[in-house]
Amino acid sequence: MIRINEHYTKLKASYLFSDIAKRVSAFQEANPEMDVIKLGIGDVTRALPQACVEAFHKAVDDMASEEGFHGYGPEQGYAFLRDAIAENDFQSRGADISPDEIFISDGAKCDTGNIQEIFSGDATIAIPDPVYPVYLDTNVMAGRTGANTDGRYDGVVYLDCREENGFIPALPEKPVDLIYLCFPNNPTGTTVTKEQLKAWVDYAKENRAIILYDAAYEAFVTDPSIPRSIYEVEGAKEVAIEFRSFSKTAGFTGTRCAFTVVPKELKAWDTDGNAHSVHALWNRRHCTKFNGVSYPVQKAAAAVYSEEGKAQVKGLVDYYLNNAAIIRKEMAALGYELVGGDNSPYIWINGKCDSWEFFDLLLTKAGVVCTPGAGFGSCGNGFIRISAFNSLENVEKAMAQIREALN
Ligand code: PLP
Repeated sequence: MIRINEHYTKLKASYLFSDIAKRVSAFQEANPEMDVIKLGIGDVTRALPQACVEAFHKAVDDMASEEGFHGYGPEQGYAFLRDAIAENDFQSRGADISPDEIFISDGAKCDTGNIQEIFSGDATIAIPDPVYPVYLDTNVMAGRTGANTDGRYDGVVYLDCREENGFIPALPEKPVDLIYLCFPNNPTGTTVTKEQLKAWVDYAKENRAIILYDAAYEAFVTDPSIPRSIYEVEGAKEVAIEFRSFSKTAGFTGTRCAFTVVPKELKAWDTDGNAHSVHALWNRRHCTKFNGVSYPVQKAAAAVYSEEGKAQVKGLVDYYLNNAAIIRKEMAALGYELVGGDNSPYIWINGKCDSWEFFDLLLTKAGVVCTPGAGFGSCGNGFIRISAFNSLENVEKAMAQIREALN
């Protein structure tokens, strides 16, 4: 008799966004006249940058001739993209990352979810609360946690992110092996300073731990004093893996292209105490289970680094940051305490009541959909996340509806 992986049964049954969708469609059915605006799910709304579209078209045309055709490419990605990333995203910012430390993939979701499988099944994991749910759920699936009691899994070291600590977690009291960090953060929209990151890098070195650093939203950092990569911090190459994505940077959520940086210095140990290259392990995993991102998509991604591409990406980011600034201003004017939205597309708002209660209030009184903070972890209760990924018209309309309903 075939048996299931029983760790899957520990996963919480309902998924945040399907719960939201159910409440929204029930409300819409009952109130068909109400104009409901969705500022919940973090998907982009603007078209791909023109430079990417042109490169995409051209690469599809290449595929139509025998001379230009591309079959299986290198699993790690084409050199034209890895070179452009290393130079533009890292070397030009003083981070010494080489192209062969970059692994192109079809998403930071898969990479942040898959990375844990190259580490030991009994590794201790530290995960922020609130958090992008993928980090936690993939560790549950892998059996690194016990049961979920009172909303938290046994065996996980939760890193509480609350108003009191500015939503930047304190270092764990006990040694841990794997640490997930995400800045600019989803869901809180907070960013971290180099000094704060340095403390994590030093901690990881002392404890022979590895930091899994999700920088999917780095393009939204406009303040030059805020690091966009963990490798801007000295010593980080010895202890950190970084995840990046073209999804939010350049509107690739439906096109799919991302990358993971695994420095060659990075080590993990076997039970006999022998050091192993994490780069070699990830390379083995990647080549065994992944066959590369399509050639046209990689060409479209490489166009992000052309002069026109850079200007167009900046235009996209600025557009969403302008939305975020409007949301910040309006919600602050209504007396709500909030963080994020200045170097991030997410605004994290203290609703001064239960998250789902505030969600229902915004939906039923203002016709605006947000994301209840409790869905990201127990420390998220009392908060909601509003996303700036929408048209300016919708954001302005949503804010007017909220102002009218809550003032
Ligand atoms: N990491 C974080 C923190 C995210 O919020 C998201 C998507 O919302 C992702 C990764 C997923 O990125 P991708 O579209 O590259 O899979």
